[in-house]
Amino acid sequence: MKQLEKPNREAYGHLLLHVPHSSSLFPSESIYSWNDLENSERLLIDYYTDELFVPQQESADISSVVFPYCRLFCDVERLVNDPLEKIGLGISYFREMPAERGCSRSFGGRVEAFNEYVDFHASVSKKLFAMGEGTLLVDCHSFSSHPNLLCSTPPDIDICIGFNDDETRPSRETLVNTVQYFKAKGYKLGINTPFSNSKTYSVPTHYHSIMIEVNKRLYMNEQTLEKSDSFHELKHDIQSLYDVLLMKCNQECQHANSSSQELLFEQNMPKKIKNKIDSDNI
Ligand SMILES: [Zn+2]
Repeated sequence: MKQLEKPNREAYGHLLLHVPHSSSLFPSESIYSWNDLENSERLLIDYYTDELFVPQQESADISSVVFPYCRLFCDVERLVNDPLEKIGLGISYFREMPAERGCSRSFGGRVEAFNEYVDFHASVSKKLFAMGEGTLLVDCHSFSSHPNLLCSTPPDIDICIGFNDDETRPSRETLVNTVQYFKAKGYKLGINTPFSNSKTYSVPTHYHSIMIEVNKRLYMNEQTLEKSDSFHELKHDIQSLYDVLLMKCNQECQHANSSSQELLFEQNMPKKIKNKIDSDNI
């Protein structure tokens, strides 16, 4: 079998926008709905991330996959036998209620949730495989600015960029350009901390994956669930990044390529990751 080649480090031919947690809907046959969720559970939903990340019209080089159901029913980013299963946050969330309520709830039946999980994974894998070499999977999320079930002390950052320490890691240029793009617009960045890694799918083609987590404080009121005035500015900033990722060279990405920008990026990178990138000599 021919050795798979890495994508050209100067350009990605396609972006696949992966939006797993934007929905607050449960399947019509479910006995639960968003109204049954506790506030701590509602904080886990990545509200509006489909709108923030996905352009209204698909183009030849940008496609998207949006999971249609609430993550509490089925979380497609979990692993089979995920470590978080132990605290009820596996593929389908299982929640023990406080003693006074004396009950527990499982938001998805084991079979129903797993069927959705498998179907979604199959459809994304097919799409990713069809898009082929030179695709960048963009894993699109948001995080709560309030303490929640997954993060007791939310970080004081605006955007976290995550990537894996394997063959799906984007090129150095892509990471530098992404970080510098957001920094130039005044956002406070985290790099693989506190949120690390990026979603991958097992397909026989070489692609890269990058996670972008945006703080909900940037675009919505988490109590009323209303979009804030800055929603559209953030949406524009996110979707304008795609030209940089696709390396449609404009002044912005040429600027981000300068060596001084790389230095700034590396100064802000956790040492462990920097050492790994240096040792790989990309
Ligand atoms: Zn998410």
